[in-house]
Amino acid sequence: MQFSPKKFLPFLIFISSILGLNAQHINYSIIPKKDTANVYQEMLNDKSDDLMENHPADDIYNNIWTSEKLNPYKIPIDSLPDTVRIDCKNFFSPVQGIITSDFGPRRYRYHYGTDLRLNIGDSVHAAFSGKIRIIDYEARGYGHYVVIRHDNGLETVYAHLSQVMVELDQVVKGGELIALGGNTGRSTGPHLHFEMRYLGNAINPASIINFYTGQVHNDTYQITKRKSFYYQRDLKAQQAAKYYKIRKGDTLGQIALRNGTSVKALCRMNNIKLKKLLQPGQKIRVR
Ligand SMILES: [Zn+2]
Repeated sequence: MQFSPKKFLPFLIFISSILGLNAQHINYSIIPKKDTANVYQEMLNDKSDDLMENHPADDIYNNIWTSEKLNPYKIPIDSLPDTVRIDCKNFFSPVQGIITSDFGPRRYRYHYGTDLRLNIGDSVHAAFSGKIRIIDYEARGYGHYVVIRHDNGLETVYAHLSQVMVELDQVVKGGELIALGGNTGRSTGPHLHFEMRYLGNAINPASIINFYTGQVHNDTYQITKRKSFYYQRDLKAQQAAKYYKIRKGDTLGQIALRNGTSVKALCRMNNIKLKKLLQPGQKIRVR
């Protein structure tokens, strides 16, 4: 049989693919997949690299850029680095408003931001330079809202807006007009709901910003698990909370007995008096 290179070629490709020589058999698993937290995990565990040196946001949020979810990262607080320094030098107050509601526990859900009073149509400014990651609308939540990924590694959320003045992926400077304030979504009166997050985890904005002066407390903010995420304990307690809907004829004594608690504990948890008149349909916390 005569040797024919043409006939021999498919055989060669077959053999080389078995041996792993084919160029198409490069191990693609080394390329970070979009929207998976593993990439971050590895980076966060890598102590040799100073994440915060140049453009921390690029490194910290490597390849996770989606306008679908506020927190696509799903990084538990326990796995964050112990301390991270955030450059807050070029801060601009989003609005000149007074606080109407603080970051912290609310009756049934946690409040992850600071509410600032404004009038519908007031200018809302970017807190730092960055890039617009999300523009969305949630009828039962944020209303019209914008999320910015900042160069310093933080992300900020601006909610209940009446009008958005920027586009998705637009690069903005600190202080740039991004939206007009409003009263959209779950909101009782015009205000800005403002959040600051690091890798999806909310930080109390008042720990970075003095809203009365419109300035940051310090030029750098040091994120630490203990100081920045102190609210985790509150949150766990709230998540473990159980409520009971009062029925006609219920007494505190019965409710306590049925839920393995005491009348005294019920009064304390719900901040009510012993002789409180129970309203059928009302919810009472029992755990
Ligand atoms: Zn709010």
